[in-house]
Amino acid sequence: MVRVHRPTPEFADHLRVLYDRFPFDRSLADDPISVVRLLALDPRRGEIAGIFAATLAIGNTAAIRGAIGRLTDAADGDLGRFIATIPSVERRHRLRAFRHRWIRGDQLAYLSDRLEAIYASGETLESIFGNGMRGGGFADGLDALARRLRSPAPSRGPRPPRGYRALFPSPLDPSHSPAKRLTLFVRWMVRARYPDLGYWHTVPTGELRVPLDQHVHWIAYNLGLTQRRTRSWATVEEVTRALRQIDPIDPIKFDFVLCHTGISGDCPKERDILICGPCAVRPDCRLWHGRRSAA
Ligand code: SF4
Repeated sequence: MVRVHRPTPEFADHLRVLYDRFPFDRSLADDPISVVRLLALDPRRGEIAGIFAATLAIGNTAAIRGAIGRLTDAADGDLGRFIATIPSVERRHRLRAFRHRWIRGDQLAYLSDRLEAIYASGETLESIFGNGMRGGGFADGLDALARRLRSPAPSRGPRPPRGYRALFPSPLDPSHSPAKRLTLFVRWMVRARYPDLGYWHTVPTGELRVPLDQHVHWIAYNLGLTQRRTRSWATVEEVTRALRQIDPIDPIKFDFVLCHTGISGDCPKERDILICGPCAVRPDCRLWHGRRSAA
């Protein structure tokens, strides 16, 4: 039987210390949001740079930033202008050789067509998400966004390229995906506090859900914020509920710190007294349970 692990009653204080001490500027340089911030000169450009960057957020952070850089080069440095003024055929031509992991240029060109159509219809990604969310909740907002982005282009447009629809999973799909990349995109758009952009004003920060990547899941599981070993939408909800008990107004402010504690190597993901010694959440860590006196 798997033993249930819970954080200590002092966990909220420990997490706040981890947050307050965290070197945001060091880790910002590693994070895709550092590139998005340079491209997001206004809300429209923020949405466009954000959705492309979130879509490319697969693999290590250096490769992700490199992929965003190559995409931006193909767009002559302005993704907003790329969508608004460059013809679809030309976009497809410029992106024909693009590759990042299993993501291909024809898929990004199709995404650019979808964005062009959305903005031409007078909608924005915020309005699509907001309408979906008002119809149910946060997961419904993500579902509305995913459905719109992966739907076929309007009449006579080309069908989505192979693998395109899989780039935008929804928590309401039968797989109950954690939808990490769309959830991350919404975090960037909604939170106004550093390092996020805060271009969306219709979604309360208290409604955000945690973008559950492997680093956040590892530390959340080992701090007892979830008992689930797999990443699913249910895990997202469980971790978010735990963070909301600490900060109901802005629970996802802890996401950047939890994620980059893993990415940076601040957390070795094993017991190592030299590294774990100063860790503010060590009293809550499953790996040190019952071993505090040994430290
Ligand atoms: S105590 Fe060590 S393993 Fe546990 S969260 Fe902190 S750094 Fe990571």
